[in-house]
Amino acid sequence: MNKIIVAIDGYSSCGKSTLAKQIAREKGYIYIDTGAMYRSIALYALQNKIISNAHFDKQALIDSLSKIQVSFSYNSESNASETYLDGKNIEKEIRGIEVSNQVSKVAQVKEVRAKLVDIQRELGKSKGLVMDGRDIGSVVFPDAELKIFMTADHKIRAQRRFDELQAKGDVITFNEVLENITNRDNDDTSRSENPLVKAEDAIVIDNSEITPKEQLKIALEYVNDKLTFD
Ligand code: C5P
Repeated sequence: MNKIIVAIDGYSSCGKSTLAKQIAREKGYIYIDTGAMYRSIALYALQNKIISNAHFDKQALIDSLSKIQVSFSYNSESNASETYLDGKNIEKEIRGIEVSNQVSKVAQVKEVRAKLVDIQRELGKSKGLVMDGRDIGSVVFPDAELKIFMTADHKIRAQRRFDELQAKGDVITFNEVLENITNRDNDDTSRSENPLVKAEDAIVIDNSEITPKEQLKIALEYVNDKLTFD
């Protein structure tokens, strides 16, 4: 059977990673969360006082880029791939609101994107990959066999992310989450470098009113259509 690349793009917190993981598990594919890569760079910038709510020393970040090592490792206990920054597991830190509030600023920097897009293309060389992000179908893999563009009502997205963060014990209000999602969507769609756009040949899944199980069923039909059996 042929192996394909499934590129999933869309707005913040609309279930891209849930769908990507489901497809990867069903097909025995590798799953790559490119948001985690941008979040890792944002965490580095926060830890090194390169970024805060009040300032961003873009040049200092660009100068540090060659030293920053982002990698993934599979954790068999949690059955998930986890993110490492310079050899340290940072999976928990990168999901918090502090990183979420800075990441879309870091993701606007051309040099950051160039570094991460190179790594992402390298990971896709052997295909058999599901990758999610904002520019996967439009820039990273414009020839991906299947492109999915996901969307959902912004209040539903905020509620889902709020429930997720609360379940993890984060102290946060619904309005903070809604504001973060709205700001990131604005930053991601309006930046000059690789903005979030729907690739012309992407199929759209709006999951406002459907369950993860239903969304997987829809996506798998598209995936299976692209597979040839020999
Ligand atoms: O997917 P996630 O919400 O974790 O992504 C965090 C942020 O990283 C996004 O809001 C966006 O600014 C940036 N990002 C990006 N391009 C990607 C993936 C994520 O700009 N391919």
